[in-house]
Amino acid sequence: MSFSPKDGKKLGIALVGLGYYSYGQLGPALLHTKNCYLAGIVTGHPAKAEAWKKQYNIPDKNIYNYETFDKIKDNPDIDIIYVVLPVSMHKEYTIRAAQAGKHVICEKPMALNAKECEEMITACKKANRLLSIGYRLHFEPHNMEIMRLGQKQVYGKVTAIDTGNGFVYGGTDNSAWRLKKAMAGGGGLMDMGIYSIQGSRYTLGQEPVAVKARQEKTRPEFFNEVDETVYWELEFPGGFVATGKSSYNHNWGYLHVEAEKGKFGLEPAYGYGSVEGYTPAGPMHIPQVIHQAMQMDDFAECVRQNKRSRVPGEEGLKDMKVVDAIYRSLDSGKKEKIV
Ligand code: NAD
Repeated sequence: MSFSPKDGKKLGIALVGLGYYSYGQLGPALLHTKNCYLAGIVTGHPAKAEAWKKQYNIPDKNIYNYETFDKIKDNPDIDIIYVVLPVSMHKEYTIRAAQAGKHVICEKPMALNAKECEEMITACKKANRLLSIGYRLHFEPHNMEIMRLGQKQVYGKVTAIDTGNGFVYGGTDNSAWRLKKAMAGGGGLMDMGIYSIQGSRYTLGQEPVAVKARQEKTRPEFFNEVDETVYWELEFPGGFVATGKSSYNHNWGYLHVEAEKGKFGLEPAYGYGSVEGYTPAGPMHIPQVIHQAMQMDDFAECVRQNKRSRVPGEEGLKDMKVVDAIYRSLDSGKKEKIV
């Protein structure tokens, strides 16, 4: 199977779903990428297609809607399809993209649950296409430094981790997809908590084995389908416990780590504005980057070299196993194994 290396040429990316994240982040980031460029779009809104076409100089033949999506298989300009849709649509569009012969980046959270993630991984393998999750922080140098400090035990063994991520959801009508369980899978945990789970996992470089969680709702009439604020204790092999939380009602975004020889961490940790870090030696002096440009360039290089991404589908699956266990714990009130 050929991997369309296009030696020396930029690979073409098509964005599926031109909402907030595509418009505000991915489109602009693709003006800064070296290995890939915005070659195509998939949208259900003709007016959006017109605006993007002008802004990014996209030829008509590379513009699709949800009915014509599968025809993308005949388009050699498109090497990679980037799924930027509501969570309930991730599985379907990832699988259809792979079956159209394209490599896939799928946004986080990967899918509604771990079972869907497994189906996506299997389908991409069967189609012999690479799958990556939009985990931009694995390409962000402050977060990469935390991975190094924690995993290499630069300040000794990690003795405590506390991390939180959230924002105050300011919408006034609860018909938005993020508040619908069928479309979002869950609330702040699925959307924001995934970063806190990631942060604990990549600081330690280990996989958690169990979790105990509780939740809090200050606007139950608004968050009547999905979680608002969730707190958890994530247990790792050997008994180490990381505390984490997620919210649609608090502006959180930090990762604090204690190790035998001092404290290090990030705050703000996870947003795509600037990230700031500290170690026992003082503030980190690391340049800011455009996370999404680094992430998409890396994936394009993986495609060129037929190399697995450092954030493959399996990485999304690991987080969704934790998320599934947190929801089980919220239901049972007990500690649940991560399986
Ligand atoms: P959004 O609601 O702004 O955009 C969703 C897009 O999907 C819209 O263009 C909408 O028209 C389209 N769509 C197609 N069918 C739809 C349907 N049936 N219902 C609703 N919308 C439909 O959402 P967003 O904030 O752009 O989020 C999209 C994905 O990107 C989510 O998975 C989200 O978690 C992810 N995201 C990731 C980051 C990150 O930092 N990695 C940041 C924001 C969002």
